[in-house]
Amino acid sequence: MVNHMRHTRGHTRNRRSHHALKAAGTILCADCGQPKRKHIACASCGKYKGRDVLAKQAKADKMEAQKAPKAKKASKK
Ligand SMILES: [Zn+2]
Repeated sequence: MVNHMRHTRGHTRNRRSHHALKAAGTILCADCGQPKRKHIACASCGKYKGRDVLAKQAKADKMEAQKAPKAKKASKK
């Protein structure tokens, strides 16, 4: 490091004063009251804006698992 590139401690600290991380926005879930992150489905009840989005995904997985026998029944009729 060349001597003319050196900054004072004040210069360095002044620059680093903007490096702090902001806390992620947390709110309380309207449905279960648990703390949750904003704009993200609640981890404890799986709801987002009152809709059960995570359980819906689980339901879709179940439907896919049941698709094979249902298709057989439909072909018999
Ligand atoms: Zn919740």
